[in-house]
Amino acid sequence: MGSYPETNNRVGKLLKKRKSKCTYCGQYFTTEDIMEVDHIIPKSQGEKNTMNNLQLLHRHCHDVKTRLANIDFKEVQDFNKVTENLDEDRCEGLNDI
Ligand SMILES: [Zn+2]
Repeated sequence: MGSYPETNNRVGKLLKKRKSKCTYCGQYFTTEDIMEVDHIIPKSQGEKNTMNNLQLLHRHCHDVKTRLANIDFKEVQDFNKVTENLDEDRCEGLNDI
């Protein structure tokens, strides 16, 4: 047993496999972090629930990943159009980003 006695066997195996790092941000998990098991290829795309298809992510990283995966390309194009059409006054103060 490692230093995560409260986690179940699957999570323990994933921690070992990923060297206790979040695959998304590359940071080590701490005991305060909330971890979630993520399917690298969604089950809806026919991928099985195997260890090779699982990774551990921070809960907040999992949220970001899920949100990015749900943005479809058309929305991104519309977003670009919107930002192009902003008049310059409204962009003031954003230049240093
Ligand atoms: Zn993370």
